[in-house]
Amino acid sequence: MKNMMRSNNCIFARFLFFTLFFCVISTFGLFASKPYAVVIHGGAGNIARESLSDEQIEDYNNKLAEALIAAEEILSNGGTSLDAVETATRILEDSPLFNAGKGAVFTIDGKNELDASIMCGQTHNAGAVAGVTTVKNPISAARKVMENSPHVLLTGKGAETFAFEQGLEIVDPGYFFDRRRWNQYREFIRNQVNRSRSYIDEDLKMGTVGAVALDIHGNIAAATSTGGMVGKRYGRIGDSPIIGAGNYASNLTCGVSATGHGEYFIRNIVAYDISARMKYKGQSLAEAAHFVIQEKLREQDANGGIIAIDKDGNIVMEFNTTAMFRGFVKSTGEKGVWIFQE
Ligand code: ASP
Repeated sequence: MKNMMRSNNCIFARFLFFTLFFCVISTFGLFASKPYAVVIHGGAGNIARESLSDEQIEDYNNKLAEALIAAEEILSNGGTSLDAVETATRILEDSPLFNAGKGAVFTIDGKNELDASIMCGQTHNAGAVAGVTTVKNPISAARKVMENSPHVLLTGKGAETFAFEQGLEIVDPGYFFDRRRWNQYREFIRNQVNRSRSYIDEDLKMGTVGAVALDIHGNIAAATSTGGMVGKRYGRIGDSPIIGAGNYASNLTCGVSATGHGEYFIRNIVAYDISARMKYKGQSLAEAAHFVIQEKLREQDANGGIIAIDKDGNIVMEFNTTAMFRGFVKSTGEKGVWIFQE
């Protein structure tokens, strides 16, 4: 009897050992093989190669690379796509090179009004702020709206008060001032007075930023942040904080962050349209993005582009302008940053 119990115990111990062994191996195996990817943009527009010096190009490329490295650090350590897109977007917001956070474009009355949004593809939760003038990093305010409020979109004073209550950094509106943007604004006003140029000059409105990521847990997130379009009426809200227009994420299809002439991106519900084409028409991300940007928007003379990642980690960077600041990193080792059409 004793012998039988001993041998039973022995079999049980072996069973336990092998079960644990296979659990550990498969967990590490899963971690090792699960893909991650992050793609970012710093705005799309029609700019000529000659209008940027080699030094400026290097500055843009370095800043894009810095944002990608920070996001990859999070993703490669098993962090979430939400943390990755918020971190990358904050880095671009803090840089005066881009039209988001510091260095945002000016409204018609010479102020900076900022919009941002974030979406989680796993839960379909979303948060956004619009028309904020004192929140240093609007993308973080958008995330707080998503996670700590029952709402999706807060605007103006209400968004600023909420951001303050959430412990986010509040700055004087003068913090966002950038001399280069101010000169662009002055030029815009001069040209408007002379009526020699259209309402929005293509070169002047570039620089919205965004990030989309897929983490090793299979979750997609998307973030977009902007100062909007130079010379916009105060109170104007573009596509960037509008879920479905300038930003969308669903684990079932893809994550999208957009940049371009916001009014068209709202009317065409660009980000959601790409996701819906995948879901209901069975299109690939590349087919859906190509159709929306190169056919649908082009027919309307609407300029801009998108970055996107699908649930399998495929990346698309589609734009119908001459340039879009952009870059990506994948767990496969593929990576790069670009500005002009390849
Ligand atoms: N989409 C932004 C807006 O209309 C501008 C941009 O992306 O350049 O506010």
